[in-house]
Amino acid sequence: MQGLMQDWQLTTDRILRHAKINHPNRTIVSRQVDGSITRTTYGEVYDRARRLSSALVARGMKLGDRIGTMAWNNARHMEAWYAIMGVGAICHTLNPRLHPDQLKYIANHAGDSIFFVDLSFVSQLEAVQDELTTIGLYVIMCGPDEMPETTLKNVICFETLLEEGDGDVVWGDFDENTACGLCYTSGTTGNPKGVLYSHRSNTLMGMTAGLPGCMGVDGNDTCLMVVPMFHANAWAITFTAPMTGMNLVMPGPMMDGASIYQLLDEEKCTLSAAVPTVWLMLLNYLEESGHKLPHLREVVIGGSACPRAIMETFDKKYGVTVIHAWGMTETSPLGTMSRIEPELADLDYDQQLSVRLKQGKTPFVIEMRIVDDEGKELPRDGIAFGNLMVRGPIVSRGYFGGEDGDILDADGWFDTGDVATIDPLGYMQITDRSKDVIKSGGEWISSIDLENAALDHPAAAECAVIGMPHPKWDERPLLIVVLKEGMSATAEDFKEFLTGKIAKWWMPDDVVFVDDIPHGPTGKISKLDLRKRFEGYVLPTVKNTGGKKPAGSKEKKKKKKRFSLFGK
Ligand code: ADP
Repeated sequence: MQGLMQDWQLTTDRILRHAKINHPNRTIVSRQVDGSITRTTYGEVYDRARRLSSALVARGMKLGDRIGTMAWNNARHMEAWYAIMGVGAICHTLNPRLHPDQLKYIANHAGDSIFFVDLSFVSQLEAVQDELTTIGLYVIMCGPDEMPETTLKNVICFETLLEEGDGDVVWGDFDENTACGLCYTSGTTGNPKGVLYSHRSNTLMGMTAGLPGCMGVDGNDTCLMVVPMFHANAWAITFTAPMTGMNLVMPGPMMDGASIYQLLDEEKCTLSAAVPTVWLMLLNYLEESGHKLPHLREVVIGGSACPRAIMETFDKKYGVTVIHAWGMTETSPLGTMSRIEPELADLDYDQQLSVRLKQGKTPFVIEMRIVDDEGKELPRDGIAFGNLMVRGPIVSRGYFGGEDGDILDADGWFDTGDVATIDPLGYMQITDRSKDVIKSGGEWISSIDLENAALDHPAAAECAVIGMPHPKWDERPLLIVVLKEGMSATAEDFKEFLTGKIAKWWMPDDVVFVDDIPHGPTGKISKLDLRKRFEGYVLPTVKNTGGKKPAGSKEKKKKKKRFSLFGK
């Protein structure tokens, strides 16, 4: 027997329509490419998105077409998104920090027919346009007075295109499983792969992200959405905000500490979300300027592991709660969030901090487990670690164009490529990327734990750990450090600092100091580039011992193959 409730397909056009009806006057503030600030409302964004949508349909856009966008977070980008998705075309966000070869590959692979581009990226497209084989129209996201001289062919100004529309367009009216968004993973190995979100998956993710166990937001909140819209739906905020009536502030191209602070302060933001690098820049700026953050309630930090120092500084100096989140493009992307639940309420601050530094618990729309290399499930004891597998309606079941074939195992689990523990309360902790874990004499060393431990050193601005070849142990850790400006420290200082904080056999064989650490297109440390940079580098333990045991490795044989937090 079927239920007798109405058939209401979960399509994303309903999200903006909901905002138009229920909170049309809530604000969207954008920093433009020239640094100026503009203001609009959900009501205006809805009206303009419909006009744009009707103009695009008149120019041939239809259900299933891929429409590219290469843009900062701003209101026009939001209008383009909803204009595209409303009629069942697919909004394909491209990361402007991609290498030109990847950009060409991705745009051609997706078969983008129309392409929206922010002023900042016009020249990037001009350079490769002859090799972009499918694009028939470029839309430059500016007003007519700002239109640049360009060699792009078939180009139109965003506002001129919008003027062509009358808003008379049918939105929705298709199956909720229709494709809605396309986002390529950065492809650290092999070609980038397209994750194809559906209207249903995006709507479920948007609803979930607003729940109290996740971001827990409503119209009283104003969110500085730093995480880019080209990075997995800006962690679903692009859907959660219009759904809940949360006000939005978007930083455009300016993500340095001073610019972020200005928006947090002037717009009285209560919430924000970004990768750790952005918060490091902000905290450095606050330290120099002496400013405080009186309005900010919470920041969501994810994309890579949140260092203990960032969480503690936000807590103790600024009274801002950090919520650690884990996810990936393939998980829409919010897979876990770490909040203190009632079972942990009686723990002291340091104990709670250790739990909050874990990546956290899954919301309702995703399940996870850890398995060994044979696929056997491992215990949820917070000690055993294994390959992290996920499944659920917000998780990919294949890549666009069938790349990589069948990506799920027989029971429908997706292998995240991360290695993790899950504790008895369900808190997951990433111990490493499977390809970054350092394999020393058959035992595994977590590069992330080592980086975090080293980052607590007062002179450390940024740290990265990679495995270097070692004749006896296969790999040993090399710690690479960028020092804070004006600070100095030696390799011995760092080793001394780490002594007692990590297992002895985890001690890096060497510490080297560099001016910068390379970052990938999503702002994360690029271990691939670091490995390239250090190709041919020989560890002193190799030179000195000719392959003898590195110092401090005696107890290694005794240990079972497992991680424990900082070896304690
Ligand atoms: P890519 O694999 O191209 O970097 P994503 O941007 O989707 O793609 O990154 C997902 C990966 O980022 C995860 O699989 C995980 O390794 C890492 N990651 C994300 N959030 C965290 C976190 N809070 N802690 C540690 N690693 C994280």
